[in-house]
Amino acid sequence: MKILKAEFIKSGTKASHWPELDWPEIAVAGKSNVGKSSMINCLVERKKLVKTSGTPGHTQTINFFNVNDCLSLVDLPGYGFAKVAKSERATWGAMINGYLSSRPQLLGLVVIMDIRRGVDEDDMQLIHACANLGIQPILVFTKADKFSRNQQFKRRQEISKEIGEAADSLLIFSAKNGQGREELWDRIQQLTQI
Ligand code: GDP
Repeated sequence: MKILKAEFIKSGTKASHWPELDWPEIAVAGKSNVGKSSMINCLVERKKLVKTSGTPGHTQTINFFNVNDCLSLVDLPGYGFAKVAKSERATWGAMINGYLSSRPQLLGLVVIMDIRRGVDEDDMQLIHACANLGIQPILVFTKADKFSRNQQFKRRQEISKEIGEAADSLLIFSAKNGQGREELWDRIQQLTQI
């Protein structure tokens, strides 16, 4: 995918803040510090379009980005930090549920996980929420550069068995060396027809 334009549109915490555009939307979610900002920056070939999250639990806004004037890429706040208070988790849940269930233009949700850690309960909940809402989940396992190709292959088989998804559907990614970037764009393009 050739990136001609990638720019911030706006941030928001509730529906009245979210932009109404005629473009399809793809959102990205993952545990805090998993490598979500790095993945988005790698996708759009910009070093600092998305700022890395810093303090966990403190970037609680939904951020919208314009890609090539034909796609909104949406960065959802990170989840799953043990230190984050229950009330903050509840706020996160309400905001994400509100967003996921009210965006007809939202065609896919990239759930990004660490290939070393695999899928945990929080990730699984989000994947199930997608299924219930008719949003296509795209399961991406990042930091693949930490493993050899052989280890990546093994890990993919293990995760596939664990969660009962076809190994082929699990996308192996690295923001460090760009592995999986084209494949991820292919999936996004298939879903959105851009
Ligand atoms: P976020 O909190 O999910 O947005 O995570 P960041 O993108 O800020 O990344 C968290 C940490 O993981 C940073 O130290 C990154 O340099 C590192 N990181 C992110 N992606 C990769 C990757 O693909 N490979 C490796 N080795 N490190 C990564």
